[in-house]
Amino acid sequence: MKRTEINITGIVQGIGFRPFIYNLARRYSIRGWVLNNEKGVLIDAEGEDGNLDLFLKDISRLAPPLARIETFDVRCLVPLNYTTFEIRKSEEVQDKFVLISPDVATCDQCLTELFSPQNFRYRYPFINCTLCGPRFTIIQDIPYDRHKTTMAPFKMCPVCQKEYEDPSDRRFHAQPNACSACGPSLCLKDRDGKEVFGDPIEKTLDLLAKGEIVAIKGLGGFHLACDAKNQEAVSSLRSRKFREDKPFAVMCRNIEAVKEHCEINKEEEKLLLSVERPIVILRRKEDSSIAHAVAPYQDTLGVMLPYSPLHHLLLDGLIKALVMTSGNVSDEPISYKNEEAFHRLSRIADYFLFHNREIHMRCDDSVTRIIEGKPYILRRSRGYVPFPIKLSFPLEMILACGGELKNTFCLTRGQYAFMSHHIGDLENLETLTSFEEGTEHFKKLFYIEPKAVAYDLHPDYLSTQYALSIQDLPRIGVQHHHAHIVSAMVENGIEGDVIGVALDGTGFGLDGTIWGGEFIKANLKDFDRLAHLKKVPMPGGFMSIKEPWRMAMVYLLDAFGDEAAQLRIDLIRRIDFQKWDILKRAIEKKINTPWTSSMGRLFDAASSLLSIRDEVHYEGQAAIELEMIADYGVKEEYPFHIHGDEKPMVINPAEMIRGMVHNLIDGAPSSKISGKFHRTIARIIIETCEAIRCKESLNRVVLSGGVFQNIHLLSLVAKGLKRSGFDVYTHHHVPPNDGGISLGQAVIAHMRLFHV
Ligand SMILES: [Zn+2]
Ligand SMILES: [Zn+2]
Repeated sequence: MKRTEINITGIVQGIGFRPFIYNLARRYSIRGWVLNNEKGVLIDAEGEDGNLDLFLKDISRLAPPLARIETFDVRCLVPLNYTTFEIRKSEEVQDKFVLISPDVATCDQCLTELFSPQNFRYRYPFINCTLCGPRFTIIQDIPYDRHKTTMAPFKMCPVCQKEYEDPSDRRFHAQPNACSACGPSLCLKDRDGKEVFGDPIEKTLDLLAKGEIVAIKGLGGFHLACDAKNQEAVSSLRSRKFREDKPFAVMCRNIEAVKEHCEINKEEEKLLLSVERPIVILRRKEDSSIAHAVAPYQDTLGVMLPYSPLHHLLLDGLIKALVMTSGNVSDEPISYKNEEAFHRLSRIADYFLFHNREIHMRCDDSVTRIIEGKPYILRRSRGYVPFPIKLSFPLEMILACGGELKNTFCLTRGQYAFMSHHIGDLENLETLTSFEEGTEHFKKLFYIEPKAVAYDLHPDYLSTQYALSIQDLPRIGVQHHHAHIVSAMVENGIEGDVIGVALDGTGFGLDGTIWGGEFIKANLKDFDRLAHLKKVPMPGGFMSIKEPWRMAMVYLLDAFGDEAAQLRIDLIRRIDFQKWDILKRAIEKKINTPWTSSMGRLFDAASSLLSIRDEVHYEGQAAIELEMIADYGVKEEYPFHIHGDEKPMVINPAEMIRGMVHNLIDGAPSSKISGKFHRTIARIIIETCEAIRCKESLNRVVLSGGVFQNIHLLSLVAKGLKRSGFDVYTHHHVPPNDGGISLGQAVIAHMRLFHV
């Protein structure tokens, strides 16, 4: 007989780990006990040699799906002749820091019960167990216990209570455990607040089938839902939401229903079915019957599978695909409280499907796609947050405030970086309030008292102003593109100098101009700007982002001078020359005309030049539609010039612009020109990296920034760089867009302030 003490750390609490150990111990006739302590789980196990070995092996092999075992220490002890195996009461300790689980999609066992008429939770929309259900969104305080969640007002009935107390039960200590006798319930109301009587799910299904728009309270907030095949319903949702073109997400009943509308490969299927259940961007089939208005001008669809019991019930009727878009008006944060949703969404939704389990933290759906067989995260939120990013070294406690668009913040503690859920575009008071509440909540959950605050250099960002208002802590500004590169470095676990290629729309530069086509020598602490796209004016500032035709004219002016106005291309025929003359004068007189080296603006210009988009309705639209029409078979490239003897080097795309115009005049199709444009940008990146390698002897390239959401470009660049012998690093756990920069800010702040 042997006795061992097992210390396990990682994510091992609140996810059914102790009942799992209990049942495993019984299987192998192990005696002793298990308990939660401040570090994780502690096991004292005694048994026959062979059995004990199997027990140890199976802990890691069969651990619950949510468990993340980080360390597993085993120590031999003198046997004590235990007679039973028991779950002991948790040790009470001062610093109770533990990791907290994200919300988890309904597990298979709960799903089977949900649809079994003989089960007492048959069709109960809030069924859950230790392996699934709400977590992050219902936790008000720690430790994670029912009375500190929004389940507190619901007193468990004797049946639920018995499950909760039985160590061998799947629902042992499942904090949100509930049934129809004791738990939360649904209530359907019309837009006047009058309750609609009858079965709320049946009624909702009838309404959706009739083409009505229903606001549905989910796990992390409200969705606005309608039948995804009903063109009229989708269009009316679009106009009521003041959302002209930005795609809506679709929730499909199951994988078979997804396959009706989209091409999917093995990796995409796996990601759709993962416990995180993110939205996955998929290639839409041409014969798909999903309404065109769901994703206008797109050949993709953002699709997810049901992740709560309520979703499964809603998709179990006639409708196999629902539009499920965030319940908000244009740029506001997603609604998550009943009263507030009713107030804000009553002009959009015809009906409201409420429930009475409160959401404590709002959390939007995550957005992902598969690139080269691996997940690529564009929005990291529900299902992923608050799992931390694990760093290869410990950090001082830091609050990093992130950027403006797609804001997230980041709080660090030891080797963990807790990146927040998607806060949204920090452009209004509602989002700022959500940001402030979020930081306070994370500080409380993870016992973090920041020793410093990091922020973006852009003086106008609300996140920057918030950081600067914190008087009693050291504050440190971090350059936008440096933060991008470092965020990608730390998720890849690399240190030392690298070539950072940071391409995006807007980032405040050290010289006060707007950067965005940047090649930097970077490490975790400092950076040096080695090359950038040639600077051009942005007449009207912000309006140049909204109206890509302005950037097209700027690039034409740069490439052709005053002859631009005589070019025989469609863009010139469309231009209001009165307006353009005013803008030209503004450029000359330097009125409201910032200068930029932004790659995003060059994509905008190309999009308008090809008559794809002169005005955008959401960030990145012009570039997305340019990518969509590109012919991937094109092999040619346009010429360009890299001024290698300047410091930093300057990349001049004027010859490319001239080439594109000549192709247009010759009547070449836009798809060919777009394909050639993409290849040229990839070539520019590769040759610039090669020029830097010659001078700096660096061979590792890190790719980041919103432009790398363009998967066509990303794969051309990554392949080309590898062919040229570079080691290439891209994002997989953190978004390449501004949703990722808070992580980089935190690490850079630590290195500058605390790493001597
Ligand atoms: Zn379950
Ligand atoms: Zn109950």
